[in-house]
Amino acid sequence: MPDWRIVFALSFVIVTLGTDLLVHRRQRLRASRGADAWDPRRRQLRPEVARALGPLPIDDYLAPCVVAAVHVQLLLLAALVGWFGHPIAAGAAACVLAATRLRALQEVTHYAVHGTLTARRGTGLAVAAWLFQFPFGRATIEARAKHHVQEHHPHVNDPARDPNLIEYVELGFNPPLRGPAFLRLAFFPVTPRGLAATVRSTWAHLRAAPVPIVVAASLLVGALTLVGGATAAAVCYAIPLFVVYPLLSWWSQLVEHRWFRSRPASGIDREYVSGRVLNVSRFTRWCLEASVLPFGDSLHLAHSMYPGIRWNHLGFVHAVHMERDSEYRAVALDVVWWPGSARSIVGDVFRNFSQTPVAGS
Ligand SMILES: [Zn+2]
Repeated sequence: MPDWRIVFALSFVIVTLGTDLLVHRRQRLRASRGADAWDPRRRQLRPEVARALGPLPIDDYLAPCVVAAVHVQLLLLAALVGWFGHPIAAGAAACVLAATRLRALQEVTHYAVHGTLTARRGTGLAVAAWLFQFPFGRATIEARAKHHVQEHHPHVNDPARDPNLIEYVELGFNPPLRGPAFLRLAFFPVTPRGLAATVRSTWAHLRAAPVPIVVAASLLVGALTLVGGATAAAVCYAIPLFVVYPLLSWWSQLVEHRWFRSRPASGIDREYVSGRVLNVSRFTRWCLEASVLPFGDSLHLAHSMYPGIRWNHLGFVHAVHMERDSEYRAVALDVVWWPGSARSIVGDVFRNFSQTPVAGS
């Protein structure tokens, strides 16, 4: 690939992500200007502030560019793999980096099913379908919306209705899990059973929508092959899709909630029981966002409480709740590793699955 194409591709990524940042920073400053953003009676943002942080009309044009910018990152990676002649170590690094781009695509298109990727819901759903669901052999966007918005969000930790919790139970991951059982949970997608499950689900999705999946996947694989060669397509598409990306996606699901907690009957209290707040440093959050928890996924409780707010503003929501909301602060963790620490994210996931759940804990 001649240099000017790389310059153009990089410029597109930087200008698109920079514009998205600036446009929504301005939106946030406008929404939170003047009166206090916090409603002490409801222990939440004032509804008009939350409403003002949804998608803007310009997002109908900007959001498709943001999603395309992640595809461009994948193509740049393929070009680099082709350029460096793909020695094994570089290929493995590219494979992991490509998987983080797939995670980014999964997460940014997740806002489409909430209707917050774009102002016109149909535009967001079409972007999600054609730039993530079809090229990567996922479920149809309608099936994803039903699974995530209708079944998961309102029923987190409901053993009869939350599809994520039901999946853990079906796979035999009921707490308490210790030793090898916990390791099997932590690395399930790369176990033989997990790999077989990924192949089975991709096959089922392909059978459900063969034409759009074959067309979209062929276009993407063709583009990756064109810029980096067949090995680049394997390293940036096939291996991440079936091996590394499912693992990152699984880890994100493990972290997003405290699973198997009983659900208080109503409202926002339910979110605190199932939620987990990652109150980490700016650098740590950047590392998490660049890898396992992109596009605001490191602020998942804020998203659960306000699914109508875009990822751009979840940092603001988090800051307001940390300052004003003692219950939100009470479930906050500020260290990633240190499995033994009560403040550690990894330790909290381990405790979650290694202890027998206590009603309401
Ligand atoms: Zn969601």
